[in-house]
Amino acid sequence: MGQTIDEPKVDNLVKPPEDPASYERANATFMILARNQDSSDVVHTIKQIEKHFNSKFHYPYVFLNDAEFSKHFKERVQKEISSDAYFETIDPKEWNQPDDIDKERQNKGMQELANENVAYARQLSYHNMCRYYSRGFYNHPRMKQFKYYWRFEPKTEYYCDIDYDVFKFMRDNHKIYGFTLALYDIHQSIKSLWPRTMEFIEQHPEYVNRNASFSWLVNDLQNPQKAQYANGYSTCHFWSNFEIADMDFYRSNAYSEWIEYMDQTGGFYYERWGDAPIHSVAVSLFADKSNIHWFRDIGYNHIPYTNCPNSNKCTKCSPGKFSDANLRSENCLTNWWNLEMDEAARNMY
Ligand code: GDP
Ligand code: MN
Repeated sequence: MGQTIDEPKVDNLVKPPEDPASYERANATFMILARNQDSSDVVHTIKQIEKHFNSKFHYPYVFLNDAEFSKHFKERVQKEISSDAYFETIDPKEWNQPDDIDKERQNKGMQELANENVAYARQLSYHNMCRYYSRGFYNHPRMKQFKYYWRFEPKTEYYCDIDYDVFKFMRDNHKIYGFTLALYDIHQSIKSLWPRTMEFIEQHPEYVNRNASFSWLVNDLQNPQKAQYANGYSTCHFWSNFEIADMDFYRSNAYSEWIEYMDQTGGFYYERWGDAPIHSVAVSLFADKSNIHWFRDIGYNHIPYTNCPNSNKCTKCSPGKFSDANLRSENCLTNWWNLEMDEAARNMY
């Protein structure tokens, strides 16, 4: 992390256009799920995205909400955006928990997690949100018109200038998933995620990629108690509050069939599966690892973790500082680096 870096070392970076009006963008959009009361925090982050990236490229934004966006939200947000903004309401059938969830079992599961101080354990809307980010958003009628998305969250920070088109970087270098931070998960929240996944894979071995990132999913050296509790899954995952990814991956047979299988088990409600381990396990199993990209150059913070490159494109963060000292053991990036990145990936910057 101390190494000075700049942009990805590929020969096909697309630099900001001189004439934005005639620029042919990739098929891509920003995307966020938000509530009306999030408007200040959403604006906080959009200002940074616009300053560092989008004032140069003008990609559109899609705002998704389970309730209707207020006039106030739309007006506040639109003011900050240099491109098109779409404000969409989610179909309740896609958002709410399915009818066949056993309420008694759900209540018991939520209470158990609450007793162990798992955040949002008893908050049904949070479970719905995680499920929607896992199996809903990429099939929303508005999202269906796009291939790539950049997910952002309210109150996150972006520290570095990005002077190339990241969506074209994804497209032209065959990347399907890009991340900035990799963490261990709250093991109580995903107790059955791995065993259920292994059941699916026994039925569908053909979906596992020959160059899958299997090692970091099962590594138990750095944090053995996590892997034990999660029944064989290291709990390492890409932190999904930042993602730049290709939705055709989620729309594939492998992901679609796996996520329906997982959803049927009720794990989004009987436990509290996050969309981060869901996306990460899928992309690590069903994609070629060379198609997964660490955006080392995108300085990013979602409390309490940071990706801060040592680059003169960045300000307001401390290079290499991931978190306060007491949280350093939550970092799983070294496993990704050691176990899954080859020399070409390590020398990308
Ligand atoms: P955390 O990062 O895990 O603490 O969760 P957040 O509270 O940041 O929620 C994750 C994302 O989902 C954010 O973009 C929120 O605005 C959004 N979100 C969470 N719950 C809801 C909800 O009930 N409705 C809507 N529309 N968005 C939600
Ligand atoms: Mn958040």
